[in-house]
Amino acid sequence: MSAVEAAPRANDKVHTAKGDLTVTPLKHASLVFAFAGHTIYVDPAMDAPIDALPKADYVFITHAHPDHMDPGMLDKVKKPSTVVVASVGVTDKIPAVTVMSNGDKKSFGDFEVEAVPMYNMVRGPAAGKLYHDKGQGDGFVFTFGDTRVYVSGDTECTPEMKALANIDVAFVCMNLPYTMPPKEAAECVNAFKPKVVYPYHYRGSNLDEFKSAVTAPGVEVRVRNWYP
Ligand code: ZN
Ligand code: ZN
Repeated sequence: MSAVEAAPRANDKVHTAKGDLTVTPLKHASLVFAFAGHTIYVDPAMDAPIDALPKADYVFITHAHPDHMDPGMLDKVKKPSTVVVASVGVTDKIPAVTVMSNGDKKSFGDFEVEAVPMYNMVRGPAAGKLYHDKGQGDGFVFTFGDTRVYVSGDTECTPEMKALANIDVAFVCMNLPYTMPPKEAAECVNAFKPKVVYPYHYRGSNLDEFKSAVTAPGVEVRVRNWYP
């Protein structure tokens, strides 16, 4: 069995100063955190397998592409009290969202979130155009207790990503043409040195290439099956 086939739908536990954080990879860019009694979805989309999961207390949406923002899936995970938080590029497409711009920090009671940039520097659909323009989408840095968890959204290895500090757990995108190849993702990981990195959004990418290029000491690469 290859590493990629191992541990499907693993519910990984991360110890924090305020109790365990549970991480459930769903599909492609969709994931769920459970923390302090809250169910927190990030980018529920693409028919992610949610039937056995609780409805959302919070939904965070990185940007407006359909593999991240999916109004049908949002309706499925929502309940009347769900708080939906999204980047500026999403707000005209989904009603009643709390907007976070790059650099914003917000407390949600038991946890805090900082919105960080996610964007392309070189890759785009045509000359002079980029797949993701800076400022339109958010990566998110969650602080659960004393544990900092970074979800990249769709990005290349930007200076802001390299400069991330004190990240315990990171979800780092890869795949072409929209984001970056495994080696570039690993270059970024080697720069900000999370304790644990989950490659995600990796459809069609060579994860062995990623793993062998993550050479910074003390970084655990955690491969899970994101394509059930
Ligand atoms: Zn995208
Ligand atoms: Zn994407």
